[in-house]
This record gives sequence, structure tokens and C-alpha cells, in this order.
Amino acid sequence: MEQVLIIGTGSAGLTAAIYTARANLKPLVLTGTMPGGLLTTTSIVENFPGFPDGIDGFELMSRLQKQAEKFGAQIKFGNVESVDLSKQPFTAIVDGDPVQARSIIVATGSGHRHLGFKNEELLEKKGVTYCATCDGALPMFRNQPLVVIGGGDSACEEALYLTRFGSVVYLIHRRDQFRASRIMAERTLSNP
Ligand SMILES: Cc1cc2nc3c(=O)[nH]c(=O)nc-3n(C[C@H](O)[C@H](O)[C@H](O)COP(=O)(O)OP(=O)(O)OC[C@H]3O[C@@H](n4cnc5c(N)ncnc54)[C@H](O)[C@@H]3O)c2cc1C
Repeated sequence: MEQVLIIGTGSAGLTAAIYTARANLKPLVLTGTMPGGLLTTTSIVENFPGFPDGIDGFELMSRLQKQAEKFGAQIKFGNVESVDLSKQPFTAIVDGDPVQARSIIVATGSGHRHLGFKNEELLEKKGVTYCATCDGALPMFRNQPLVVIGGGDSACEEALYLTRFGSVVYLIHRRDQFRASRIMAERTLSNP
């Protein structure tokens, strides 16, 4: 039986692995289908403390993994299909096999909320994106009319950010007022 099972090897999972490994808990860390998590898909990470010149996302995640392993974390390729948290020890089904653990840390990241339109997936990376700060500066979005869907803080923030690149930014939302905080809404409305 494992003392600690960590599901996910993104920045959250590997950070948990470093801490629990240093506490001598010998965590078993499962990668899922994306070892290293989302940051492995980006070229340069500029806001991780300690790297004044930025660091390549893949390199950063490899270093986090090495650091966790150095303290005794076991990192294994495996996808968790289900977990039973109704009784101790907890049981996770990993690629069909049960793994028992005293505690489980879920660090599976988050997914984008899709609109569910026909062909939305086909247009991903071809003009449809879910992260303005990740993709807004790409040539395909420069000097083009851009549309942001939503009326909350994230939508306002992303729309404001995109005004640096687009020829015009439309913010499309459902209600007659923004769900965003007042300060964000005011900032957005006062931007031409
Ligand atoms: C292109 C891009 C650029 C970015 N640039 C930056 C940046 O410069 N700076 C910044 O701060 N943030 C950046 N981000 C955001 C950053 O990547 C995320 O905030 C971060 O990766 C979240 O880490 P996480 O560990 O929570 O999840 P993730 O990195 O999403 O990792 C989730 C992990 O869980 C695993 N997993 C999921 N389901 C299962 C399962 N069923 N069984 C086993 N494992 C599972 C996955 O395989 C993965 O290993 C960027 C994101 C993208 C997409």
C-alpha cells in the first residue's frame, strides 16, 4: 500500500511530490497522458521565481521531476480511471489495476470550458483559443478583429489584453451587465 498517491505530474503534482518525498512519504506519482503537464507545451516560462531570463517549459518540468525523484518520489506512467474515497485505505484504479493508498493528492489540472459548437475542436489552434495570454501575440491574431466570449473577470481581462494585438476586440456576453467585478467591468467599458 502507498502512503501517498499523487495523481498528475504538472507543476502542482510535482511540487506535492517534492514536499511529500522530503517528508519521507515515498509518494507514488502518476503521470497521466501528459507527463510534465501543460507547461511542457510552452517554450518560455517567464514568471517562475529564480529564472530571471525565463526557462523552457519542458526543461522546467524535467527539473521538477528530477528534484522530486532525488528525494525518493517514484514517478510512473499511468492513468487513473476512478477512485474510491468511501473507505480507508483509498483505492484508485490505474489502467485497470487497483492501487491502494492512505492518502491521495489530486493534481489533475483543469480543462478549458468549451462552448460545444459544431467544429469547435477542428478550429482549435486555427483561430479558436482558450487562453489569450498564451496565444494572443501569435501572428494570426495580429491586426484582426477578435471576439472574446464571456462577461466575467477572465473575459474582461483577456479582452483588455487582446486590445494590444487585435484591430478591434468584441466582447460578447449573455446578460445586460457583466458578471465581472466592478473594477474589471469599468476598466473594460472605458477602453475604446
Ligand atoms: C501554452 C501555455 C503556456 C503557459 N504559460 C505559462 C507561463 O508562462 N506561466 C505560468 O505561470 N503559467 C503558464 N501556463 C499555465 C500553466 O501551464 C498551468 O497553470 C499549469 O500547468 C497548471 O499546473 P497543474 O499541475 O495544476 O496542471 P497541469 O499542468 O494541467 O497537469 C495536470 C497533470 O495531471 C495529469 N492527469 C490528468 N488526468 C489524469 C488522470 N486521470 N490520471 C493521471 N494523471 C492525470 C496530466 O497528465 C498532467 O500530468 C501556460 C499554459 C499553456 C497551455
